[in-house]
Amino acid sequence: MLVDLHTHSNASDGVLAPEQLLARAEKNGVELLALTDHDTMHGVQALQQGLASGTLKVSLQLVPGAEITSLCGGRCVHIVGLWLDAGSSELQGLLAGQRQVREERAERIAHKLAGQGVEHAYQGALQHAGSAAVSRPHFARYLVEQGHCATEQQAFKRWLGKGKVADVACAWPQLERVVSVIQAAGGLAVLAHPLKYGLTRTRLTDLLAQFAAAGGEAVELVSGAQPQAATRDLLQLCQRQGLACSSGSDFHSPAQTWCDIGRQPALPEAATAVWELR
Ligand code: AMP
Ligand code: MN
Ligand code: MN
Ligand code: MN
Repeated sequence: MLVDLHTHSNASDGVLAPEQLLARAEKNGVELLALTDHDTMHGVQALQQGLASGTLKVSLQLVPGAEITSLCGGRCVHIVGLWLDAGSSELQGLLAGQRQVREERAERIAHKLAGQGVEHAYQGALQHAGSAAVSRPHFARYLVEQGHCATEQQAFKRWLGKGKVADVACAWPQLERVVSVIQAAGGLAVLAHPLKYGLTRTRLTDLLAQFAAAGGEAVELVSGAQPQAATRDLLQLCQRQGLACSSGSDFHSPAQTWCDIGRQPALPEAATAVWELR
């Protein structure tokens, strides 16, 4: 089965509308697709309404999801919730809080940028966000648009990335709380892209152990284009913790040439797939 359990639409920092994302996934032959926007289910809810009313028809199975920002040991860690009930009051409460954190963070980022000679970044980022919750890529797009740098990656490298001038600490919820809210909403909790936090092997092992102790169900064993050796090694760590495995492209845009929807490497045979837990 061709799956992709990690994608973004323009309800967060992706560029395709949810309907366009769905069409692209179908065209790529994806059979099980999760839309997992950052800290919001607005895109998922729009798709669910379209599917329920019949205005939207697809052959693939849509998994309602979200990628929730959390803190673990003072570090930002992303937790993907899959098969979420968007109507859960616990989940809605958490997401409302996340939106507020994002808005406050955006003002502080803009303030830091102003100190660096970048004007009107708050309004600029909001314009790029549209109705989506504002995120750092919206700032990156503004910085590129205004000629402060050539690419979004450069904007992260110079201002927005970890430890850079416009990196501000945020009151995201703790990992344990996020796992429990996901489960209260009937979902499965998946630790997103564990190899992208820049952790030493010891810290990575600790993170997996802490996630398992919090009741998390699975780890994103495959995220985007990833070397096979890294997958093999991570699979061992997952198995040791009794964690199942997920797989996703982390697709944001058709311009993201390294991994289109559903084009990430397949899960190894030996892995217990998270969709088998359903
Ligand atoms: P936020 O959720 O507002 O903290 O923004 C995080 C998002 O920024 C990630 O999901 C990526 O889409 C994007 N991002 C993070 N780091 C980089 C980077 N170095 N270059 C480009 N995009 C990045
Ligand atoms: Mn993103
Ligand atoms: Mn992420
Ligand atoms: Mn993502």
